[in-house]
Amino acid sequence: MATAGTAAAAAPRSRQAAGRGLDDENLVFDTTPGVEAITSFDQMGIRDDLLRGIYAYGFEKPSAIQQRAILPIVSGRDVIAQAQSGTGKTSMIALSVCQMVDTASREVQALILSPTRELAQQTEKVILAIGDYINVQAHACIGGKSIGEDIRKLEYGVHVVSGTPGRVCDMIKRRTLRTRSIKLLILDESDEMLSRGFKDQIYDVYRYLPPELQVVLISATLPHEILEITSKFMTEPVRILVKRDELTLEGIKQFFVAVEREEWKFDTLCDLYDTLTITQAVIFCNTKRKVDWLTEKMRSNNFTVSAMHGDMPQKERDAIMSEFRSGVTRVLITTDVWARGIDVQQVSLVINYDLPNNRELYIHRIGRSGRFGRKGVAINFVRNDDIRILRDIEQYYSTQIDEMPMNVADLI
Ligand code: ADP
Ligand code: MG
Repeated sequence: MATAGTAAAAAPRSRQAAGRGLDDENLVFDTTPGVEAITSFDQMGIRDDLLRGIYAYGFEKPSAIQQRAILPIVSGRDVIAQAQSGTGKTSMIALSVCQMVDTASREVQALILSPTRELAQQTEKVILAIGDYINVQAHACIGGKSIGEDIRKLEYGVHVVSGTPGRVCDMIKRRTLRTRSIKLLILDESDEMLSRGFKDQIYDVYRYLPPELQVVLISATLPHEILEITSKFMTEPVRILVKRDELTLEGIKQFFVAVEREEWKFDTLCDLYDTLTITQAVIFCNTKRKVDWLTEKMRSNNFTVSAMHGDMPQKERDAIMSEFRSGVTRVLITTDVWARGIDVQQVSLVINYDLPNNRELYIHRIGRSGRFGRKGVAINFVRNDDIRILRDIEQYYSTQIDEMPMNVADLI
């Protein structure tokens, strides 16, 4: 695990300068009355040594969602916060927990749950970086890692746990993760966390937490059926929501290539290879087997690609992530394990080799590019029998997906 110091040192310094900035007044939220936009970190009542960390990390001005949601969160309200991908939601979680924990105590006070190990680790790193000057202790409690190390860390004492539900639950049941001082539960990618695959595990954790718990839900996509169940475990939540026709980012240009048949996708991808390597690119397939197959096939045609999916040992996943984050590798073929939350600022191109299986995943996948106002391009490979799905996505989000132009490389 990186120490807080090195994590902060590794962070890019001028995020605001690189991106477009996302404080656009024209963003419209469906917001609980009384929620105000606070346009500077200085005015949020954040403690000085945390402010120092925020600025040192390269944040100059809060994004639209940060302007609205940080204050309700740190003042203890239950909050449901939605904003477009890459607009600083997960960073806001990191910042808020740093503001809220009492670092004089050695008890776990905030628990953040994320759907993938990589996202949970990323959040831990951001907490350590932003909280460098407040000496916050955070630990990523995730599957695939040594249980002994979890036990060592948790017994030493940490303020924040950022984890995946399975391992967190395990640690709670072993009484290694003591829950009595947890006052804040945050579900990042909360629609995924409350969906069929995770719901029972979340409940399993939830029932061990103190009754006067503050709950915060965060996601770019919050479908109606998810919002409907929130009353079961939240108290008068402050809601900050985006209408779905404002969910796609203008900075991400979306295209399709009509490949007609599955067999033609491969050649299309090879033709695009030079474009992929202009900066960094992520290619999504719908299954792990397809990731393996495509990786193998690209390599046997002498293209350099890396690959990651959930059947790989965690050590290998970590190594592939770190190579991709540092830019050593530039083209990553992966599954939806990568669809949500992962932040690699240099990714400017996303390819849907397969169209995603639902509308939410589409938003999350293309949102791996265009981070914090940067430019991004998404290219969808569309077989004849996929055209309907693409049109449905286009209509659902009131967005435009044009045929890929010849000069697509110029847009990256
Ligand atoms: P989201 O969770 O909404 O997808 P993240 O929190 O992952 O967004 O942030 C996306 C990127 O924007 C990250 O690289 C993060 O460091 C950067 N970022 C977040 N907030 C700010 C800010 N206020 N100023 C500058 N950069 C920011
Ligand atoms: Mg996020």
